[in-house]
Amino acid sequence: MMALLLDARLLVRKVKDLSCFTPRRHRVKGKWAATLAKQPATSLALQHFDATYSGQLGELWPSIRVALLSEKKYGALFNNFSHESTLAQLEAQGCRDFISDTAQPSEVAVEEESNCVSIKKSDIDGQLLSPLQLSPHIKCLVFPRGDITRFKPARPDMYGLLGYYLMDAASVLPVLALDVQEGHSVLDLCAAPGGKTLALLQTQSIGFLCVNDSSVSRTLRLRRVLRSFVPKQLLTDEKLHISSLDGTKWGEVESNTFDRVLVDVPCTTDRHSVTEDDNNIFSKSRTGERRRLPQLQLELLLAGIEAACPGGEILYSTCTLSQIQNQSVVEQAIFLAQENHGIRLQVVDLKPLPHMFRKTFHFAPNLHLGEMVIPHLAANFGPIYMCKLRRLS
Ligand code: SAM
Repeated sequence: MMALLLDARLLVRKVKDLSCFTPRRHRVKGKWAATLAKQPATSLALQHFDATYSGQLGELWPSIRVALLSEKKYGALFNNFSHESTLAQLEAQGCRDFISDTAQPSEVAVEEESNCVSIKKSDIDGQLLSPLQLSPHIKCLVFPRGDITRFKPARPDMYGLLGYYLMDAASVLPVLALDVQEGHSVLDLCAAPGGKTLALLQTQSIGFLCVNDSSVSRTLRLRRVLRSFVPKQLLTDEKLHISSLDGTKWGEVESNTFDRVLVDVPCTTDRHSVTEDDNNIFSKSRTGERRRLPQLQLELLLAGIEAACPGGEILYSTCTLSQIQNQSVVEQAIFLAQENHGIRLQVVDLKPLPHMFRKTFHFAPNLHLGEMVIPHLAANFGPIYMCKLRRLS
């Protein structure tokens, strides 16, 4: 009896597979079947990245892929406005400030490291290591390589200010590379939720800071972040202006103004796209938005270039590995700024960064334009791409 039942079940399964026996008019049409399971956006993202990045990154891609799919590492951006005891508490847990713990040019190893930019002795003595000024006030603590300890959430001090902001430690690099000097006026064009704005404020050098994000809800979040970390007296209109404008139109309102402009554009947020289905740019409903990203990025960068004053510097950054959203956008912006606005630009060499921070991050080797932190299992930060431009006219 039992054997008979099993046979019957097997038969049912076989018949189900034989869809070719179903009359054509009764067959389910895959593309119209509302009940058919949709492919999660994370899988679509991974398929897309496998197709594009295996060509672009070659043999680096498999290890970056594993890191992207693994738990990311955070850094704790220390809040100089809070009680300083937090710094000692963090250090007691075994983390260190990666910014003060940099390799000096004389210490730079000349041997080649896998996945790291290789350095020749001539580079060390020569122009490539022209000094990159780092603000002495920005501190970002990380656990050592290979240590995946998580930070505890920050707690408010006696004044109600939080001691540190958790973020991808590599996100601090674009702010360091921007090299803000005493009294500078700075524009943060796509600022929410505010990690880089906070890092900019930590420099304590800014004369006037303009913070913008086109999303009203994200700007509200940014305001909350600033209130939790920055004393009220620094959030006054004379020092800080917050707006929710479309950044692509900034040049129409105000041009040739800022000493420094940070253009941290929306992108495919590669790590988020392969790990979170919520709010994923690879979901079918956001295909158009995703395809329009390079054009939006180009318009934002051009607006940032226009907003900078002659001699001013612009830092373009993303959190994607995509060449189309990174180097290609910068190349087009340099061409169009000259062609349409008569603005000549110089690419500022950021080569010192991979040298200085090679203990903490893995950098993509041999990028022809800009620098990029690539995820690695032992130092799972990034991806963060950055390229710096200087206005010559
Ligand atoms: N810089 C931020 C930080 O460090 O926290 C992250 C910025 S996020 C990568 C990109 C931001 O660009 C998003 O908050 C998004 O709302 C904003 N954005 C998108 N389109 C924009 C536009 N046309 N103008 C200004 N901001 C825009």
